[in-house]
Amino acid sequence: MTPDRGVAVCPGSYDPITNGHLDIIRRAAALYDEVVIAVVNLPVRKGKTLFSAEERVGFIKSATANLDNVRIEPFDILVVDFARRVGARAIVKGLRAISDFEYEFEMNQLNRHQAPDVESVYLMASEQYSFLSSSGVKELATFGGSIEDYVPDDVARRLKEELGR
Ligand code: ADP
Repeated sequence: MTPDRGVAVCPGSYDPITNGHLDIIRRAAALYDEVVIAVVNLPVRKGKTLFSAEERVGFIKSATANLDNVRIEPFDILVVDFARRVGARAIVKGLRAISDFEYEFEMNQLNRHQAPDVESVYLMASEQYSFLSSSGVKELATFGGSIEDYVPDDVARRLKEELGR
């Protein structure tokens, strides 16, 4: 009998998706029956996004087309409420540096208080992506740095159109 491994949610602003996000998504897809990538539609943490929710969702769709247990949904409610709505038992997040840990530690306490039934699970960033962030890639693109190793091709092209000088 195959064990029921349930649904997991991978939330984020994904502005835009990077190879570091994709690494976490692939690893989550190997652990759970279904992974729902929840794309923040009203970012409170980081202000306005560079790409619209539609475009961010589109980038993720093409980058995950080969993963048949992954789907993408924009959301604008509490992550734990979204997790309950899609029947998820876990919120899966990637952890890079100590700075991620501090933020996630705080969010974990708040989320646990809101919804003790939804567990948060943390996957350590793979070594080659542990320095990689969407904001870092945007900064590189602004100053004409090479971004091809960090994001899918269509994302690199759009970043250069939006930010290249
Ligand atoms: P960012 O911090 O890059 O703007 P998001 O807000 O979209 O990313 O974060 C979504 C999730 O992906 C978070 O759990 C974040 O820690 C994780 N994440 C982002 N970049 C990486 C990476 N390079 N390696 C592992 N996890 C990552």
